[in-house]
Amino acid sequence: MAIIGIDLGTTNSLVTVWKDGASELIPNAFGEVLTPSVVSIDENGGVYVGKIARERLISHPENTASVFKRFMGTDKVYHLAERDYTPQELSAYVLKKLKEDAEKYLQETVTEAVISVPAYFNNAQRDATKQAGVLAGFKVDRIINEPSAAALACQQLYPEEDVMEMVFDFGGGTLDVSVVDCFDNVINVVSVSGDNHLGGYDFDMAMAKYFCEKQKIDYRELSRNERAAIIKSAELCKQELSTAEHSDMVVNYNGEKKELTFDTEKMIEASAGIFQRMLKPIKQALIGGDVTMDDIRRIILVGGSCKMPSVRLYLQHFLKKEVVFLGSPDTIVALGAGTYAGIKERKAEIKDMLLTDVCPFTLGVDIVGGSLSPIIERNNALPVSRSGIYQTVSDGQEELHFHIYQGEAPVASHNVLLGEIKLPVPKAPKGVEKADIRFTYDINGILEVDAKVLSTDETAHLVIVDEKNHMSEQQVNEALSSMQALKQHPRDKEENAYLISRCESLYALAGIQLREFLLHELEIFQYWLDRQDEMKIKKARNRFKTVLDLVEDKMKVFNMEDEFESFSAGWYKEAKKEELDLDMEDEWDEEELKDWFKEGHMTS
Ligand code: AMP
Repeated sequence: MAIIGIDLGTTNSLVTVWKDGASELIPNAFGEVLTPSVVSIDENGGVYVGKIARERLISHPENTASVFKRFMGTDKVYHLAERDYTPQELSAYVLKKLKEDAEKYLQETVTEAVISVPAYFNNAQRDATKQAGVLAGFKVDRIINEPSAAALACQQLYPEEDVMEMVFDFGGGTLDVSVVDCFDNVINVVSVSGDNHLGGYDFDMAMAKYFCEKQKIDYRELSRNERAAIIKSAELCKQELSTAEHSDMVVNYNGEKKELTFDTEKMIEASAGIFQRMLKPIKQALIGGDVTMDDIRRIILVGGSCKMPSVRLYLQHFLKKEVVFLGSPDTIVALGAGTYAGIKERKAEIKDMLLTDVCPFTLGVDIVGGSLSPIIERNNALPVSRSGIYQTVSDGQEELHFHIYQGEAPVASHNVLLGEIKLPVPKAPKGVEKADIRFTYDINGILEVDAKVLSTDETAHLVIVDEKNHMSEQQVNEALSSMQALKQHPRDKEENAYLISRCESLYALAGIQLREFLLHELEIFQYWLDRQDEMKIKKARNRFKTVLDLVEDKMKVFNMEDEFESFSAGWYKEAKKEELDLDMEDEWDEEELKDWFKEGHMTS
């Protein structure tokens, strides 16, 4: 049975499988390999995942959730259509969708997956990811660090070389930097570092705030919808700047058109802090691996945010190294996860390949005075087991009590608290009673703690999970049955639902007259859907799609609300006059409709 690889991304998710000697991307119902990590619930209890849900971010923001990966392992709750959802439940919907796509593609049931996570994910975040996998119906026995997956995929691209490389993985929500040594069949992750709150989304936010500042809009006063719309236009503007010299960011605010032209310099000015923050993890990764930039042959760029030429230039300028930008950086982690799935399946071509990973952070306990006593140092090869001896610090002390932390700050409480462990000890003068604390960190990045009082052999064992957010078996079962209660839309209905969502999100952005037009088109489509005649629906769908494509195209061409308004005004008037033939019994000619659009609007 096939094992699949999954990159559960902040913005998009991908699924892969090892097939015919290579890792292969699996397309979704739309024939696309990127499935947006967005979940939306409709008023009838139907769940949408991916592209349709992403459209609904604009038309139904209150019932749609995105960027939830950032909150994995926390107690954040999303309230959608009268129900609460945890980040792991939302992730489970995405995973379930990918599972279905994979099953359809492979024509077999898939139950096992290798899922990638950012190296900096702590126990609670990894645990939440595993739970999401379980909720989606997977056995997840391998969580792989994203930079390691990226390294694995890159090794497939440069298989003949024995070199040390730096993988710079800059996605929507996280930055991971790793130093990787590749020789023979071994891919050795030497050190990793990162910032799990730095990504493309920060550029969008920075540009959105810059825009508001220049337009004298108080960002804090904006509604959720208004913020979402401004951030979305900022993201589009940012992406356009990757291929164009200028890009206009246009926002319809309180019925008024607000506009600001960005060029790369202005974008950099708006997001200067983000560029600065990129260097820190690079330095940390070099120090952690005890290497210098001279040891590194090249920097491999991964992740959607590396499509920004300014990011590439910045790195080249500061690091003075060959920068390899792989055509489609956003697929690399997924391909690596697929390669790992192939290794797990012991596929002949790669069964001898070995991936060694490291512990991405220091793990330790607090000691008297509040400082952190490291037990497992960062960048130790995995799996790793280390122990330390700790003693009582006051006379007659009856208990040893440790807090377990992850992180690099010398003051224990400035790190991430993972859990605590208590051990009773016999009363004795200080320093007499001692305990051995052993940390075992496995290849999935899950920490186990064993403590033993030396004089009594009293032991305590702890698998570190965040009790507050870890779901009990009963909770998992409850979540599973409520997931089943939500309707999954059949695949063939997805295209229809997608067009409706697209129309609704165009509607949300459009002015009054165009809204009437879109509504009218939506009603026509709905009319044919209700009649449930597949042939007619197909025709109506083609027409609806062409109409939406043209509207979207025109919105891009004009990109200005007032021109757009007059364009739509003329358009609409003519549409009314001609009374567009709604009778679908007649053959409908796509070319004719296109011409009609051209004549009606380009010249008006
Ligand atoms: P990832 O998490 O790797 O899928 O990356 C997603 C991030 O990449 C998002 O913040 C996108 O806005 C960003 N991104 C995607 N395409 C581009 C592009 N052409 N130019 C700039 N940023 C992009």
